[in-house]
Amino acid sequence: MSATIIDGKAVAAQFRKEIKTECEALKEKGVTPGLAVILVGEDPASHIYVRNKERACEKAGIRSTVIRLPEDTAQQELEETICQLNEDPEVDGILVQLPLPKGLNERKALALIDPDKDVDGFHAHNMGALVAGAPGFVACTPKGCLKLIQSVCASIAGKEAVVIGRSIIVGKPMALLLLNENATVTVCHSKTADLSAHTKKADILVAAVGRPEMITGDMIKPGAIVIDVGINRVGDKIVGDVCFDSASEVAGFITPVPGGVGPMTIAMLLHNTLESAKRRA
Ligand code: NDP
Repeated sequence: MSATIIDGKAVAAQFRKEIKTECEALKEKGVTPGLAVILVGEDPASHIYVRNKERACEKAGIRSTVIRLPEDTAQQELEETICQLNEDPEVDGILVQLPLPKGLNERKALALIDPDKDVDGFHAHNMGALVAGAPGFVACTPKGCLKLIQSVCASIAGKEAVVIGRSIIVGKPMALLLLNENATVTVCHSKTADLSAHTKKADILVAAVGRPEMITGDMIKPGAIVIDVGINRVGDKIVGDVCFDSASEVAGFITPVPGGVGPMTIAMLLHNTLESAKRRA
């Protein structure tokens, strides 16, 4: 193996330490950062994610409140809950855990969140700010990926960056973040004609597809920075979108799965909540 592993756990731990210190300073000014999470239904994975977020908040000194609503919650009740949290001065961040149960309109629900409390960065207002290169909340996973890239790359400007995946929560904001850092960005997706022709040119390669180990070493430019966002369950193992064994023979830097992007996503949620509380202070 020639690649250096980008240790997402270690980078996230450093962020969490700094966030905790800032939260303590805010508390001395009488402001305790607060995150409200709305969890609808019984999806087991969502329950685990929310518990992890609660624990992370507690450790950082952020007050977290989880509003658990039943599977058969009506759209109106969900929307009223969001509106109440919008009005609550103690709540700095609002997060609706996705996916919502069938029958609930995700887009409508997310659009109701006050953009100033939209710590997930999914509101059109914040997406628009990212397009404009203006301040706003950036979605946690791509924001975390950017921090990981910056942890091993002093200047992204001028680099060839390839993002595989164009979802609203990962691929598109990731591409915009890299563009805002002056990379030359290519976005690939399921209709891309010759994927490896693009990936082989990438100095920075971000894979956010959801297909186990589809990016292999022969698709990677020697020395590239490879960020693997994928979380795929294969049997009793979790693997990424990148075949770690072959890719790490070629890449310069690579994130492992697990232990790469995942820990950064939660750290960036804490970071966004802290930023919101700082504005309140
Ligand atoms: P989506 O399913 O929303 O998007 C997947 C994207 O991959 C789409 O744009 C799709 O293209 C593209 N795609 C599918 N097949 C191919 C292919 N053969 N070649 C090239 N592109 C392809 O997924 P998400 O963006 O939500 O998530 C991606 C992965 O990241 C998942 O494994 C998810 O679990 C993981 N994830 C991890 C997080 C973390 O914290 N580590 C957080 C969020 C997600 P098209 O648009 O044409 O359909």
